[in-house]
Amino acid sequence: MSKVMNWQINREMDYPYEGARPDKQIAYIFDTNKCIDCQTCTVACKTTWTSGKGQEQVFYNNVETKPYGFYPHEWDPKLMEILGPQEWKGKTFAGKTIFEATQDGLPVKGFLPDEDSYASPNLGEDVVAGMMEQGAFFQGIHKVWMFYLARICNHCTYPGCLAACPRQAIYKRPEDGIVLVDESRCRGYRECVKACPYKKVFFNTVTRVSEKCIGCFPLIEQGEQPRCVQTCIGKIRLQGFLSKPGEEKADNPIDYLVRIKKVALPLYPQAGTEPNVYYIPPVHVPRDFTGQMFGPGVEEAVATYRSAPKDPQLLAALLMFGNTSRIIERFKAEGELAVGWDRDGKEAVRVPFTEPFFAREFFDKKHETYRHNIT
Ligand code: SF4
Ligand code: SF4
Repeated sequence: MSKVMNWQINREMDYPYEGARPDKQIAYIFDTNKCIDCQTCTVACKTTWTSGKGQEQVFYNNVETKPYGFYPHEWDPKLMEILGPQEWKGKTFAGKTIFEATQDGLPVKGFLPDEDSYASPNLGEDVVAGMMEQGAFFQGIHKVWMFYLARICNHCTYPGCLAACPRQAIYKRPEDGIVLVDESRCRGYRECVKACPYKKVFFNTVTRVSEKCIGCFPLIEQGEQPRCVQTCIGKIRLQGFLSKPGEEKADNPIDYLVRIKKVALPLYPQAGTEPNVYYIPPVHVPRDFTGQMFGPGVEEAVATYRSAPKDPQLLAALLMFGNTSRIIERFKAEGELAVGWDRDGKEAVRVPFTEPFFAREFFDKKHETYRHNIT
């Protein structure tokens, strides 16, 4: 085991390989407050990459309802169980990661879901956290809650899947940090499926090898954002590149939101893989739930998110979401406008802070008719 620095748990940890950060790391931010669970992302991904035989249960992208939705079934309660006690001392994780909790000589502590766990992708969908009391009515604050968690492979800095593969069939691209399975080397041992804390490697039942999200690399190579990002109806997603720790650029929207404003947080950072999908936590969910899920920065992240209307730079960064297919490398607030540029320095986004509002006359004189939709 080597010692590597994991900035998300604020300490060094054991990892089976030497640490080697890519020059730039593919990263995503998902705003959980905006997801409407339409599953457009799931369908866009499924029809693009996994519509073949043997891929029926393969969802590189899925959206589950928390607290009771999971795919595969109960993946995260089981992860919490195998990790054991998970104490944070301030911003430092004092428990054991999946690379440190292992006792049986294996490089990673994991579990292999059984076949039935993949049978019901929508189990728990739209199920809320508690019971409504008889006679309860809406008073502006929901007493019971749920939220939607969109999930893809995290293209982790220290991938559990890669660490566990006895064939070294999984690799991380040095140019952008995308994690890929070399299917010609894979022999279907499923050690990666067992090791991935997020259960985002899948076993193809026909080809008998493992497969996973490829980060839509043919699009990335052309400076375009992935399919799940481009098609997102709720405009909850932004994909870009995260700089190495200490090399953050304030005009890179991903660096700005993740490392400078700390408004987007990793999912289960205590697993230790340094995942690179970052979530803006839901503002309405009890902090003891979101705290175990996104780590100790939740309260701060929610407060910063709420301050966006008064912070033009933060607002401009949030307006990069869903307004272009191009990967935004640089952004800024220009007066009341958010402007973003792609890798070629071409302007790809220009949106106003406040959407213009137009109202037409209720009665259309020209056609002598009443309009049903006037805005
Ligand atoms: S999320 Fe899972 S499959 Fe993706 S890189 Fe991390 S460990 Fe590997
Ligand atoms: S397309 Fe966007 S809004 Fe719809 S479910 Fe997916 S992440 Fe949520």
